[in-house]
Amino acid sequence: MAKPMTASQFVAALKKEGVKVSERYSGWRTHNRNHKGAWGNVNGVVIHHTAGRNSVSLCYNGTSALPGPLCHTHLAKDGTATMMSAGRANHAGSFPANAFNAMLNEAKTHPRPAGPETVDANARTYGIEIENLGNGRDVYPSKQYDAAVRWAAAICRFHGWTANSVIGHKEGTTRKIDPKGPVQGKGDFDMHDFRRDVQARLDGKPTTPKPDPKPEPKPGTITPKSRESAATVKAQAERALKDWPFIPAVEKKHGLPAGLLLAVGSRETNLVNKVGDGGHGHGVWQQDDRWWKVPAGFDKDVQAQAEKAAKLLADNIKAVGLPAGVAAYNAGLTGVKNALAAGKSADSATTGGDYAADVLGRMAYADDVKPTRVLEWQKVEGYMPELRYGDENWHVDFLQRMLNRFISPNLKVDGKYGQSTADAVHKFYREQLDYTTTTKGRVFSAGGWRRVLSVAETQDGKN
Ligand SMILES: [Zn+2]
Repeated sequence: MAKPMTASQFVAALKKEGVKVSERYSGWRTHNRNHKGAWGNVNGVVIHHTAGRNSVSLCYNGTSALPGPLCHTHLAKDGTATMMSAGRANHAGSFPANAFNAMLNEAKTHPRPAGPETVDANARTYGIEIENLGNGRDVYPSKQYDAAVRWAAAICRFHGWTANSVIGHKEGTTRKIDPKGPVQGKGDFDMHDFRRDVQARLDGKPTTPKPDPKPEPKPGTITPKSRESAATVKAQAERALKDWPFIPAVEKKHGLPAGLLLAVGSRETNLVNKVGDGGHGHGVWQQDDRWWKVPAGFDKDVQAQAEKAAKLLADNIKAVGLPAGVAAYNAGLTGVKNALAAGKSADSATTGGDYAADVLGRMAYADDVKPTRVLEWQKVEGYMPELRYGDENWHVDFLQRMLNRFISPNLKVDGKYGQSTADAVHKFYREQLDYTTTTKGRVFSAGGWRRVLSVAETQDGKN
């Protein structure tokens, strides 16, 4: 039992699944047969062909014998999905219980419909009319077929159904033969294949048609730009390292790039231990007591402050990479994730719109060694360092988690780049980037990170 999607939910789900939606009928949202029969508990999806050409208005208006809407969506040859209804529609008629229950229960097999047609399928199913003559010769272009798969997957995804909630009209009743006809590059429209394609989409592995090769999206690039002069930042860093010499060790312990804690402290307080931000920011790194209970003695314990800040930075970077993880120190992970999801720079969510750029700029100044290191990192887009066999740090830990997610090698997550990690990296390059490494997976570099980060971002956005 499921409550039907509202018109807005319907459109949003289709667009999210990549369907090209047309709302050319402005009244479609309230165009339905709800006044003639039940609607309110939906259980499945029915696929039809129109058996005609230029059938959009016929599907919307119907005939005097069979008033419209005749489906929820009409699908043109070019894959355009025109919305017809978000309520009861005259598309399916009645089904016998065996066919309906197989759909309702998401049975693995869909039996030949048999027995009296006792179930009002118009009350319980969504329907799509795919434009096709249905004469067995008219071809469904792959673009149209793919859009139909996406359409069905969008509904299943919304309701949490599997592809076994999708049937052809011909599987619901012996009165019908639809959908019928050859699918470009596939042979006759086969509902088993169709369900397999829908399920592949639901599982996140779309197989039809093969997606166009697209350049990998780059993780947000932020150009380091310090608000302070090099001399000022260096003077602050020198003083801080004299007073608190443990800072580099804390950075190292948490796998942070050298100078990052100094740079964040410089941005927050000019590397001065104080209570600021209206009494809410505690210590050199201004831990906010509205989000976290400050323990006794914390305001005087700069090492504890450094540990706390380093842990938060490392967690942020683990979650969204660099430099976005630095921006999240200021704007919070959610703020940064939202900015990235909206296609904006991670810094757009931060105070002054330049937090990470400023911090990375200061990091380059923080001492004489660091400018070279930052330059090295900049070669690797997204600031993820090249990893090599024998490395042991949180980047390797992160990589191992990602490898488990991508290619399921059941890799032990221990932060050590050993033989099993190398084997998994080699497999990853071959499977995900179609590339055979010359190092047998003993180096993981920018191309691999781009792939990992682009998908990691996408998947995290779903939480
Ligand atoms: Zn039909």
